[in-house]
Amino acid sequence: MDAAALREYETALLKLQADLRSEIDSSSEARTAAIDGRIGRSGDTLHAQQLASEMNRRRQARLKLIPSALQRIRQGAFGLCAACRHPINTPRLNAFPEALFCINCQRDRML
Ligand SMILES: [Zn+2]
Repeated sequence: MDAAALREYETALLKLQADLRSEIDSSSEARTAAIDGRIGRSGDTLHAQQLASEMNRRRQARLKLIPSALQRIRQGAFGLCAACRHPINTPRLNAFPEALFCINCQRDRML
């Protein structure tokens, strides 16, 4: 991968990190407000809260991968699958620049 592409991924990762952090902050505020706003929780509210915490769990998981992705950029290992060492395809990297594994290895790990 050339230096210009690496710089673009670095910028994308830093932006993603900031976005995820602010989404996690604002959604935890929204959840607290929802709990404060009503005493008897309806099923809808409970469901919305479960959904919000599931979304936050995913955001936290992505956030955790970002520092090591930034480190891989500096080490020249960015874009290579951590399991099979093959290049991760570009559409996947564009969607998930923090990805550690190529789609095949990721799928194997989910099974
Ligand atoms: Zn792989």
